[in-house]
Amino acid sequence: MHQKSIEFTYTFLMNDDFLKPYDHSKEKEIYDLWEKSGFFNPDNLEKTDGNYCIIMPPPNANGSLHVGHAVMVAIEDIMIRYNRMKGKNTLWLPGADHAGFETQVVFEKKLEKEGTSRFEILKQEGGREILYKKIWDFTQSNKEHMENQVKQLGASCDWEREKFTLDPKIISVVYSTFKKLYNEGLVYRAKRIVNWCVKHQTSLSDLEVSWEQREDKLYYIKYKIPSQKREILIATTRPETIPGDVAIAVNPKDKRYKDLVGEKAIEPITQKEIPIVGDDAVDIGFGTGALKITPAHDGVDFEVGKRHSLETIATLNLDGRFNKLSGPFEGMKVNEAREKAVEILQKSGSLDKIDNYSHQVGTCYKCKSVIEPMILDQWFIDLSEKGKKEIVRPAIDSVKKGKIKIFPKFQEKIFFHWMENIRDWNISRQIVWGIPIPVWYCTACGKETVHIEKGSPKNCSACGHTELRKETDVFDTWFSSGQWPFATLQTSGENDFKNFYPTSVMETGYDILFFWVARMIMLGLYVTGKIPFETVYLHGLVRDKDKQKMSKSKGNVVDPLGVVEQFGADALRMALVVGNSPGQDVIYDENKIKGYRNFSNKLWNIARFVLASADSHGFNADLRGQLTAEDEKLLKQCEEIKTKASQEIENYRFSQAAEIAYHYVWHDFADKIIEDKKKILAENSDKSDSAITLLYLILLDSIKMLHPFMPFVTEAIYQRLPKKDKEFLMVEEW
Ligand SMILES: [Zn+2]
Ligand SMILES: [Zn+2]
Repeated sequence: MHQKSIEFTYTFLMNDDFLKPYDHSKEKEIYDLWEKSGFFNPDNLEKTDGNYCIIMPPPNANGSLHVGHAVMVAIEDIMIRYNRMKGKNTLWLPGADHAGFETQVVFEKKLEKEGTSRFEILKQEGGREILYKKIWDFTQSNKEHMENQVKQLGASCDWEREKFTLDPKIISVVYSTFKKLYNEGLVYRAKRIVNWCVKHQTSLSDLEVSWEQREDKLYYIKYKIPSQKREILIATTRPETIPGDVAIAVNPKDKRYKDLVGEKAIEPITQKEIPIVGDDAVDIGFGTGALKITPAHDGVDFEVGKRHSLETIATLNLDGRFNKLSGPFEGMKVNEAREKAVEILQKSGSLDKIDNYSHQVGTCYKCKSVIEPMILDQWFIDLSEKGKKEIVRPAIDSVKKGKIKIFPKFQEKIFFHWMENIRDWNISRQIVWGIPIPVWYCTACGKETVHIEKGSPKNCSACGHTELRKETDVFDTWFSSGQWPFATLQTSGENDFKNFYPTSVMETGYDILFFWVARMIMLGLYVTGKIPFETVYLHGLVRDKDKQKMSKSKGNVVDPLGVVEQFGADALRMALVVGNSPGQDVIYDENKIKGYRNFSNKLWNIARFVLASADSHGFNADLRGQLTAEDEKLLKQCEEIKTKASQEIENYRFSQAAEIAYHYVWHDFADKIIEDKKKILAENSDKSDSAITLLYLILLDSIKMLHPFMPFVTEAIYQRLPKKDKEFLMVEEW
């Protein structure tokens, strides 16, 4: 291991500003020194006592960091700095996510403000490429801005290894995974009911649907059964979809309807004849016990339709307007068509009554548009049959058997519940911004060819035909970020994958346990045969003083950098860590930050006093004086405190560790020990040598103990010590 020689001088650190109060505006200069030292890169670390690695959750390159990111940076940097000081070969790998759909949404809002839209750009020749390039530039400038923010928070990550989810090497890993899944029969393309947002014109995964309680109307509609000269009553919230009805379903055990199975009814808008089928899944006690079946626009009906080999009539287009097949609703949007339907049904006497109805409605988690279930060709990962055994089960077992530990533990239960009920994963998105799905379709036989090398395939893998059409969908962004731990390490330093995989800890917010953590476990195990990380640490969300979630629309978002400029990164980090236990939300309070800014000053003043005293007493760090028995005891007490703090950090109790160090430094070291020794030093008795040695050693231990939490002020103090064992506190022995 080579050690970089440090040739620059610490001018700002050495001049007489030590006489002044602590100035946190110098944090940036300290960060630059760390970065130049090369010690963020594990290849430059002196000794290696095992490996330690955290892959930083890549922030979305579509905006600025918020205070939640500051929590992530603070907690991960604590683990990284602690383990580096413990002598581990420590890597913290940063990155950024192109964040497909999310970024396109942000970008489309920007276009909207400029009076245009994605659809306008796509109309131009080469529109797809133009749009892609525009979003690319947008993310690159955001990315740069975010990197600076991460640096200002003090993150000691290795920028030489930074990754972006659209790096060509990352894409090639993602493609290999897709090909492996395809070859092993674990991905398929099928017509499926998908969750469609008509505003964004893309399908959403089940997780991206947000359920809302809504007040709607329930319409009771009479369908005539000519052969029996009777009617059957059906309750629906969506009369506008009636032209898409292909059957009525009743439970064959339902006495009321038993003899109707096999008969025909008349759908009351376009007056077509539809069969009445018997299906055990129909709940006799729910509604009228009879259901209209509209397979093209309802997930449950789609399944009923498959069981009875019913046709599908898609009456709604992808842009949210009805088409010809809807008869009188052609050209209308949903609400307009609903009014029209009610009018028609009323006129014909088919509307029996209207009730108020409160129910759960699926909406787009970004724009709140009501989700339209639509039938589309989509790519899916099988997680319910073959995939259940080969992808899902190993992930569940890795947590059950304790190979992966989740903090807080109660989140494991939530994880199991979700994994047991998982459905096939729709990985195609109808947007431009993302990794294109590497598939071509034969224009002759229709068969797909998966082609992950450069360029397009020469001919169809099935029939040899040479005209192929490229898939225009891109991957769901979680499909690429779900491969992040191995994709990053396989494409960075030569031995990185060997040295650092499985990684030590995955630290992220509990809100993306399913979106992200579960997918990383599944894909990591599937592709590499190994777990991606040993521990999952889920931090809480940051809420404002009134416990409200922070959001732009509420106007309570805190810009972490404004806070850093005002109070220093050290103070912000402490405020976000103390009182923050895994999985519990943390309250953002400016008074708390002020309190820790005062603590930075306190620590600085302690150091000034100790070093000034050492100087005036002619203390020589090379000749550490003999400690008196009493001072020996005090030093031991300090070491015990440090051991306690260590234990807390190793048990992921960062808040407790920070508080132990804080209270010791302020209330024991400053208030008691220094006050006592002041008198001895003033007397200049024979106990002075011991006293000054003790103060010096406790100061050194104190800044070590606090360094993972408050890296800047502790490093600034370290640089002023008369004799240092290392160039930086960052690489001192814990
Ligand atoms: Zn939407
Ligand atoms: Zn073909």
